[in-house]
Amino acid sequence: MAIAVMPHAPIQPREIHPHRLPRTVQVAFDDLMAKADRAADHRDLATYADRHHEAIQLIGIRPPASGELAQCSCQNCYCGAIFDAATARTYMDGTVEFVQCETCADEHRLTGDE
Ligand SMILES: [Zn+2]
Ligand SMILES: [Zn+2]
Repeated sequence: MAIAVMPHAPIQPREIHPHRLPRTVQVAFDDLMAKADRAADHRDLATYADRHHEAIQLIGIRPPASGELAQCSCQNCYCGAIFDAATARTYMDGTVEFVQCETCADEHRLTGDE
């Protein structure tokens, strides 16, 4: 009896929690995002886009239409989710900008004025 190996498309999540990734991938991801941030500081948008593209490939997230990733830096739960930057909600706490993913924004929206 033949065993059929069914090809199946990998399911690409719209959101990834970094603690579910292998440690080496987490480190490589953080490195790419740091490089992207440095490129943005120098207004090098091509490099910024390239690093985000590499990060998308690295973690296997569904490529966001914006081509840009954001990472949740919510101070309420520290969920750390990586997701499409187009859906990011940001708030200022003092002079520091923080990012909330959609789940955090729905469950405990922060404005920095708490
Ligand atoms: Zn979150
Ligand atoms: Zn949160």
